[in-house]
Amino acid sequence: MMSHLDRSLLPPAKGFYEGEGFKLARPNSTGWCHAVGQPPCHVSRSGKSFSTNLHHGGWHCFGCGQHGDQITYIQIRDGCDFLTACKVLGIYRGGLTDEERREIDAHAREREWFRRREEQREADERQKRIEFRRRLHRTVKTYLRAADRLREVGPDSPESEDLWATLASALEVWRIEESEYSMVCGLDDPWEIPCDPHTSESRRIPPQSLSTSMQACVAGVGR
Ligand SMILES: [Zn+2]
Repeated sequence: MMSHLDRSLLPPAKGFYEGEGFKLARPNSTGWCHAVGQPPCHVSRSGKSFSTNLHHGGWHCFGCGQHGDQITYIQIRDGCDFLTACKVLGIYRGGLTDEERREIDAHAREREWFRRREEQREADERQKRIEFRRRLHRTVKTYLRAADRLREVGPDSPESEDLWATLASALEVWRIEESEYSMVCGLDDPWEIPCDPHTSESRRIPPQSLSTSMQACVAGVGR
């Protein structure tokens, strides 16, 4: 069987791992580089536990400690045996039956579809984060402009009443948008303040007390 294997036909490591969806960092002098992406061996939340070697195609997972070459990579990814992995990689010279060829192609198409869907999902989420940040930023600017203007005209100006109203409503929106922005970034809501560290209960800061204290603060600056 081994005589049917030709490791010189293995795909170049860089293209192979990039094709698997990894973003490769610059390799060190021995060819090892960080590969950001989803390893085949375990579900990585950060996607930062994987390293590959661009010289010989080996890999090492710091998340679960597994390591191997491109053949074992395919074995783990597809849950297949050694010979099948060699056929998938195209290093088995004994030839493939039509059915094997079809199966390998179908698998490849399926993986490509999942990879693209994942890429699209990431792009969509990024776009969403940008959009929420833009909204939050716009509100903060509205707030700052109103605060600047209030300092300019002073608290006794007839214009000040409208400016206070703008400040108060901008703060409310700011609070909501900061919460929303944090959520789409996968962070905790900063307005959920733990009440007691020994319980999971939390308490929201009442909006009223917030605006009142901010009003007092800005009023102090205005004088
Ligand atoms: Zn792993």
